Amino acid sequence: MENKDYENNEWYNLSVEEVASKLEVVIDDGLTEEEVSERINVYGNNELPEPEKESLAIRFLKHFNDVLIYILLFAAVITIILGHYIDTAVILMVVIINAFIGFFQENKAEKALNSIKNLLSLKANILRDRERTEVDSSQLVPGDIVIVSSGDKIPADMRLVQCENLRIEEAVLTGESIPVKKVSEKIEGKTALGDQINMAFSGTAVTAGTGVGVVTATGKDTEIGKISKSLSEVDEIKTPLIKQTTKFGKMVSLVILVAAVFMYAFGYFIRGFDAAELLLAVIGLAVAAIPEGLPAIVSIILAIGVQNLARKKAIVRNLPSVETLGAVSVICSDKTGTLTKNEMTVTSVVTESAEYEVTGTGYSPEGAILKNGTHIKLSQEYLLKEMLKCFRTCNDASIRKTENNQWTINGDPTEGCLITLSEKADEKVGKLKVQSKVPFDSEYKYMAVLVEQNNEKVIYIKGAPDRLLDMTDLEPSDRAYWEEKVQKYASTGQRVIGAAYKKVPQSVTTIDHEHLTEGVQLLGLAGIMDPPREEAILAIEECKKAGIKVKMITGDHKSTAMTIGKVMGIGDGETALEGKDIDQMSDEELAEAIMKFDIFARTSPDNKLRIVKALQEKGQICAMTGDGVNDAPALKRADIGVAMGIKGTEVAKDASQMVLVDDNFKTIVNAVQEGRRVYDNLKKTILFILPTNGAQASLIIASIMFGIAMPLTPVQILWVNMVISVTLSLAFAFERLEKGTMERPPRELKTPLLSGYYIFRIIFVALMISGASLVLNIHLHNQGYDQAVVNTVTLHTIVILQLFYLFNCRSERNFAFNKDFFTNKAVWVVSSFLIVLQVALIYVPFMNTIFGTAPISFNYWIIAIIMGVVILLIVEVEKVITRKLGLFVK
Ligand code: ADP
Ligand code: MG
Repeated sequence: MENKDYENNEWYNLSVEEVASKLEVVIDDGLTEEEVSERINVYGNNELPEPEKESLAIRFLKHFNDVLIYILLFAAVITIILGHYIDTAVILMVVIINAFIGFFQENKAEKALNSIKNLLSLKANILRDRERTEVDSSQLVPGDIVIVSSGDKIPADMRLVQCENLRIEEAVLTGESIPVKKVSEKIEGKTALGDQINMAFSGTAVTAGTGVGVVTATGKDTEIGKISKSLSEVDEIKTPLIKQTTKFGKMVSLVILVAAVFMYAFGYFIRGFDAAELLLAVIGLAVAAIPEGLPAIVSIILAIGVQNLARKKAIVRNLPSVETLGAVSVICSDKTGTLTKNEMTVTSVVTESAEYEVTGTGYSPEGAILKNGTHIKLSQEYLLKEMLKCFRTCNDASIRKTENNQWTINGDPTEGCLITLSEKADEKVGKLKVQSKVPFDSEYKYMAVLVEQNNEKVIYIKGAPDRLLDMTDLEPSDRAYWEEKVQKYASTGQRVIGAAYKKVPQSVTTIDHEHLTEGVQLLGLAGIMDPPREEAILAIEECKKAGIKVKMITGDHKSTAMTIGKVMGIGDGETALEGKDIDQMSDEELAEAIMKFDIFARTSPDNKLRIVKALQEKGQICAMTGDGVNDAPALKRADIGVAMGIKGTEVAKDASQMVLVDDNFKTIVNAVQEGRRVYDNLKKTILFILPTNGAQASLIIASIMFGIAMPLTPVQILWVNMVISVTLSLAFAFERLEKGTMERPPRELKTPLLSGYYIFRIIFVALMISGASLVLNIHLHNQGYDQAVVNTVTLHTIVILQLFYLFNCRSERNFAFNKDFFTNKAVWVVSSFLIVLQVALIYVPFMNTIFGTAPISFNYWIIAIIMGVVILLIVEVEKVITRKLGLFVK
């Protein structure tokens, strides 16, 4: 590929032909597969090197930077001084195991997120072997021909060879956020990146128009690769809840340290304990009370939630979104394709002189155009023929038959159904050669093309009828005729699209919006059916029960939107706010009005952003869908920006927290449901874990206060904490959606981690567990049992009581013994595992030596189990009482 002639020239200095020959590619054919595989060997995949991560060792060591670890290391030193070498070994082991667990859990959460990222890999539309195909953009090589359009992210550096109103935003490279208008002509002399207007650079975004480019550099050779800046920003792993738990843990640690100093002084001066032994006990207290496993278990539960969501076709980019999803109070949804099927069929057509009916459904060209019930002859319907020519030409879609004889489309369904319409005529309507094009844009709501026929230049336009009417010079009476027709179709829920034309002088070679402000002639209208998705209707019903408001935001006509809305259960069919009304309102006025309307019609992307802001102003947690490049600001601003996986643009996907694989409204509701489930389970986990810490801490405090022997050694406390937080609490990650969860209003985002009721419950259960084990402990002690046996029974009782308490926590609002009792298999797996661990701890001599335990009689199992059942029942009764008294928050 080397060629001396070009040596001192940059890509932008070369003409299109020179670029093509230098890269050895025929622009209209693309590379062959053979050439591609040769080149990929030379240039490698089109990927940026992974951003430098901290080395594994550093990341592992970070887990030692923790209050608990410091306390444990301190304890290790004390045990050495006391000559308890086995304890020293165990404590050090635990320190290492604890760091490992934290390390692995963090890794697992990260892996879950990374595998999700791969689902969102960038695709590129390219020409290879003369065929248009879509490939993973990592597979691009220099010389590939890439086709880009509005909303795409540029996948590699390219020299543009064809541009239609192409505008690209290059802020990532140049910092300039105003899109640059691109051209294909060569540039003389050296220029800076921002002025290389015939180049498109990897990582930048197409904001308007379409274009074709030849790849000139891939991977680390691209401009973005050279500044070696990774585009994927670092994801926040810490969610508000994790932050809250971490903060809570720190607070507890502090309180405990103060309490420990106090207990030490008390034990030493008043009870006269041995200084070193007492120190060990106080350390035990600290170890017991700090809920060290909590932050890790919270992030694991969230990560499992992310994986579940992906299985449910909702790809969530980061952990905090899972938490936010559960709090969503308003869903703002697109109509077309999300609430409706996006299977368009033209059912009626109207011109100035006649109305037509169209038969047949779907994209199949079977069917006919009828006038007064009889088949038409297109040769006799001049206006209709012109209209079909406009629809056919001003169109980027195509229809085709699949292998199983189904008709489908390539491209936009609204355009596809117009192709089908033209195929239903009794003679062929050809597509004219397009000289220039204004692509469809949801801001302007029309598309236009420049063609030449019979030596005359004509612009064909198709788009929203009201926009087209504004371009005409019609008398009010004529305008009223059309408006009445629009109203007629729209009020039956049809999408209405108009066809129009304008003659222009021969000198016009490219067109823009400025050419279309006046002098346009309307040809006619087509009414398009787009049936609602059945499952969306049910999902809207579900939202109502769950206290989630659903708002439809559409570019369609007000009447179309209201009618479809009524059918689906959104709005009353009579009120809607239009984009132009929103434009008139101040932010305050919009915030006042926002809750009164459920349907927003003829909206622009800017309206969407203001709707989100107004809802947030009203304290709503808002999910907003979007697909176009202009939707990005609204998607970013929303609490949960939801991009469409199928029809959405790369830019929209980039800007959102969640991507719907199937573009389906139902999926959003499923995701909210999963969010609620995850959040509930997090709270249940907290409710479950904290009493363990409370119980052990109060046991130790009691023993120091009463001057009795330590009921548990630090090593034993470590054991209890580990088995409870690592083994048992994992079951909550798999707890199913609790009955009634989707019948409650959404939670307030700012509710504190521990409500009054939670604090009560935690103290209540902690006291019962510590009380029960203390009684046993004192009893055995007085009977003169060996300390090891006494400790073992105490430890075992605490663990078994927690095991029973698990069943209380599985359900926060319902009775523990409900029909879902056996549904969560994880509960039974972890419970069995726990029993195995306990048997090992108590009966394996080796474990006895390490943990200072001793075999105990079977009776103590029975006693512990009976106590467990009693506590289980007491808490169930408590649940009923607190709910009756209304002590239950929400
Ligand atoms: P939505 O996606 O909410 O239905 P759009 O912005 O896609 O809204 O469409 C708004 C209006 O623009 C439609 O009612 C139709 O009249 C017109 N329109 C839609 N798609 C096209 C297109 N491809 N070309 C021209 N006009 C279109
Ligand atoms: Mg649309």
